[in-house]
Amino acid sequence: MTHLLLDLPPMSAAHFASIEDRVARLLSTTQDVVLMQGEALLPLEGAIRATAGPGTTALNVVTGPYGQTFGDWLRDCGATVIDLTVPFHTAVTAEQVRSAFAEHPEIDFVSLVHAEAATGNTNPVAEVGEVVRAHGALFYLDAVASVGAEPVLPDAWGVDLCVIGAQKAMGGPAGVSAVSVSERAWARMAANPRAPRRSYLSLLDWKERWIDGGRKALLHAPAQLEMLALEACVERIDAAGLDAVMGRHASAAAATRAGAVALGGGLEPYVRDAAEAAPVATTLRAPSGTVASDLVARALSADPDLPLAAGGGALAGEMIRVNHYGPQARPGAVRASLAALGAALGETGLDVDTDGALRAADAAWR
Ligand SMILES: *Cc1c(COP(=O)(O)O)cnc(C)c1O
Repeated sequence: MTHLLLDLPPMSAAHFASIEDRVARLLSTTQDVVLMQGEALLPLEGAIRATAGPGTTALNVVTGPYGQTFGDWLRDCGATVIDLTVPFHTAVTAEQVRSAFAEHPEIDFVSLVHAEAATGNTNPVAEVGEVVRAHGALFYLDAVASVGAEPVLPDAWGVDLCVIGAQKAMGGPAGVSAVSVSERAWARMAANPRAPRRSYLSLLDWKERWIDGGRKALLHAPAQLEMLALEACVERIDAAGLDAVMGRHASAAAATRAGAVALGGGLEPYVRDAAEAAPVATTLRAPSGTVASDLVARALSADPDLPLAAGGGALAGEMIRVNHYGPQARPGAVRASLAALGAALGETGLDVDTDGALRAADAAWR
């Protein structure tokens, strides 16, 4: 098997450009799409360093750990940062963003995470985008965990920088990512003396040396394996149909949520309002008196392949994550996860109804 990964011919510029075009179609965007040959943190950081500087006033919406990271990068760039932090069991509202603009009319940059796999919430990007557009601010969106699981429409929503990665609902490997860039965002970068240039973090290098040259000559030999994996990933989504792939994720989320409620024993959905729960992954609150990471360890000791994880950092005690994305957005993975959680809760002496949970999950699968 592994020899298939070797002895590949170099990737041509035309092939590379065709993968960019496929990703653009996936996002229904006419903006430039830049493929970044690294894990999604590469374009996430590159886009912030390209557009933010000491003159920037950024509204940074924090609905989970990624928003915290973006605030740190923005501050490092010299931007004035206004953090809008909402409890991780909810989503931000357009009204909260409108109030922030009313209080700080100088805001000229907004960063938002669409869906947070780490906290299980999803934010109303279309509504937030309307507010951002009305104030003329640049709109930066982390859609790594939403693409493939729910609609991601940068043009319709007025997103200037939309970052995606392949490793969540697209069902691909970590190590490939892309960003769509609006004309406004390119202009902001060109005017920013501190934007990375001649750097692996640089988006402007791709604009000036690849896009403006008609995509004839690549900047360097592309990472073939990653690019081929991204192409295969988009091909598979196109073959199944994007709507069908998103439907599997919505069903997995609905089934997990219904199953967890029916399981009982004090297990609860972490995101209280189902409308604010992300289709990519479902987070659960461990029953009081239990430790989420212990329950997950117990469940995984029975089957290490289950898509279960405890919350990161301070959330490890209370949050259980069911990562039903990509190949795991299947009834079997959801059922196995619920059964394993039922067994783990049962072993700790809690009264659970695993059969009821599986019936509820099956009924909720749409
Ligand atoms: C998963 C994810 C990323 C990518 O980070 P990894 O932890 O390296 O997978 C970025 N942003 C969001 C919102 C994510 O869920």
